[in-house]
Amino acid sequence: MHILDNTKEKLEEYFESIGEKKFKATQVFEWLYEKKVYDVNDFSNLKKEVRDKLLQDFSWDKISIVKKEEDDLTKKYLFKLVDDNHVEAVVMYHDYGISICVSSQVGCNMGCKFCESGRLKKVRNLETYEMVMQILLIEEDIKERISSVVIMGIGEPLDNYDNVINFIKIVNDPKGLAIGARHITLSTCGIVPKIYELAKLPLQVNLALSLHAPSDEIRNEIMPVNKAYNISQVLTAINDYISETNRRVTIEYVMLKEVNDSESCAVMLSNLLKGMNVYVNLIPYNETNNISFKKSKKDTILAFYNVLKKNGINVTIRKEFGSKISAACGQLRSKEVK
Ligand code: SAH
Repeated sequence: MHILDNTKEKLEEYFESIGEKKFKATQVFEWLYEKKVYDVNDFSNLKKEVRDKLLQDFSWDKISIVKKEEDDLTKKYLFKLVDDNHVEAVVMYHDYGISICVSSQVGCNMGCKFCESGRLKKVRNLETYEMVMQILLIEEDIKERISSVVIMGIGEPLDNYDNVINFIKIVNDPKGLAIGARHITLSTCGIVPKIYELAKLPLQVNLALSLHAPSDEIRNEIMPVNKAYNISQVLTAINDYISETNRRVTIEYVMLKEVNDSESCAVMLSNLLKGMNVYVNLIPYNETNNISFKKSKKDTILAFYNVLKKNGINVTIRKEFGSKISAACGQLRSKEVK
């Protein structure tokens, strides 16, 4: 187990198990996440014997940044993992702070037709520490604090449920990365049983659903996951999540030219979502060389937006980040790693 796999509670249990006081877990968290000190030998309030034990009982491996691309408001990082696999993370500068989009798996098995990440099938889940370290290394690189986290990089987070939940706990812990739950967003393509499970956790994170289509007919074409959990099943789970948590859910809808962007699609989508406590985020598609889908025209997106508005659906159009660099999910990895 890696030192950064530990939630504070797990580390408290560890210290108790070796006959030490559990507040030592808080001290370790302060070194790692507050003082950003990673060398255990510098943990000066722990005696040598305890430091040696920590070195012995946990892995302290580091992932590394191997490539960075940037424009004014976006920085994209390619990380090399200890076993030579690669994942990406993206940093975006907003007027309200800095957000990071982290990956949760090496590759992805969901097979969404428009998505670059899924061209590489899932190799493995990321460990908790590999997600935590994406944030730590980027904070060190930009020398600024990250204020919000979206789990929207490579991978399907609900297909790596336990590690992702541990990651969220560490990010959210006031002694961990201390990022408020309302500044953490988990995005899923709709793994229904896991949405029910998530609803039961006492975590107030934002949930985003990648819906991307107003009918099963269209969704089946672009998102194979729809054959396992169709629109009606996934929206029932989302309604359960909303009533369990009292939280508004984001519906993501990537605008694909002549696939899901007609006004009749907008009408169908309005009917699906009417009365639900959701808001729709229309996402301009990031085109990529390897895939033939095209982005919808600006006018088409606006017309779609207007239909939703007219039908009383909360809707925004996502600001485009990083289209000059390889910001589409999985693009940097595809380009750099053959
Ligand atoms: N597996 C999760 C999270 C990762 S994908 C999910 O499906 O939500 C993050 C979001 O980016 C999803 O909404 C996905 O559909 C979308 N996406 C993937 N490729 C894209 C592209 N080229 N342009 C715009 N959005 C894209």
